[in-house]
Amino acid sequence: MKETLAEAVDLKKWFPVKSGFFSTVFSKKQQFVRAVDGINFKIARREVFGLAGESGSGKTTTGRLMLRLIEPTAGDIFFEGKKITTLPERDLKEMRRKMQIIFQDPYESLNPRMTISAILEEPLSVLGIGNREERENKVSKALEDVELIPAEEFLYRFPHELSGGQRQRVAVARALILDPKFIVADEPVSMLDVSIRAEVLKLMLDLVKDFNISLLYITHDLALARHMCDRLAIMYLGKIMESAPTDKIVFEPLHPYTKALISVVPVPDPSSERIEVVIKGEIPSPINPPSGCRFHTRCPEYLGDICRTKEPKIIEIKRGHYVACHKYAKK
Ligand code: SF4
Repeated sequence: MKETLAEAVDLKKWFPVKSGFFSTVFSKKQQFVRAVDGINFKIARREVFGLAGESGSGKTTTGRLMLRLIEPTAGDIFFEGKKITTLPERDLKEMRRKMQIIFQDPYESLNPRMTISAILEEPLSVLGIGNREERENKVSKALEDVELIPAEEFLYRFPHELSGGQRQRVAVARALILDPKFIVADEPVSMLDVSIRAEVLKLMLDLVKDFNISLLYITHDLALARHMCDRLAIMYLGKIMESAPTDKIVFEPLHPYTKALISVVPVPDPSSERIEVVIKGEIPSPINPPSGCRFHTRCPEYLGDICRTKEPKIIEIKRGHYVACHKYAKK
């Protein structure tokens, strides 16, 4: 593997459940939503690493933890080899310049009262980068990088005067303007019209490659992840079930959950005979996740008691291909 840029080690985030009057009186035990429950992964420099899974699997929380936008309950986060989990806010400020996020909703992530120019200039002014003229040049260049051309046409518009695709391009420009090394993109095109998703993703992919950025791409859409990511990890109820280079996940999935997700991804070849694997039921509550293997209540390949009582360890089956399932446990 290439040099690691970002790493999660046994990372956990448990959110305390707010209890009402009666549950406070009758139950002494504080309950937690175990959004992320002990995950490990590394992201290499210039790598696009995807986190996929159903909603409620912990992907978004993981993205925010990696940037320390929220504090972990346990475990560590490393960036450029430095442990940032306990870094004081003062030192984190410099680090944050190198780590950016693109949110799902371009309608909410841009301040409606600011012009595009002001939105893009704000992070530069906050960090005291350049004089006014240098900042204006950077803003124009960022707009050109995301193909909002000519830049002058967009500088003094407000977000509501742009289309959804243009707004998300502004969000990408804002993430790029500080020359980051790492970007978390959280479902960046899911709010956009289907017709423009591909072009926004292609632009994003070209830019991260051109600027040597590592991307943590969070999505529930494996069809898109397949085209975006070098490697993919599949999450379920706060745990990573499988991770591997994207081709391995798509063409040789091992975990029953991954197999089910892949079986419903549309394929361009209509003659291909793929059997859809149906996962029964809803994703269980992360407050009381199932014992043993978390997927056992829905698993089409359930092996019996071992799945219900013992949590499978994630192990490397082939080079770079990890899976957490008793089917593959070494005898
Ligand atoms: Fe299914 Fe058992 Fe594997 Fe879990 S450990 S995925 S329940 S076969």
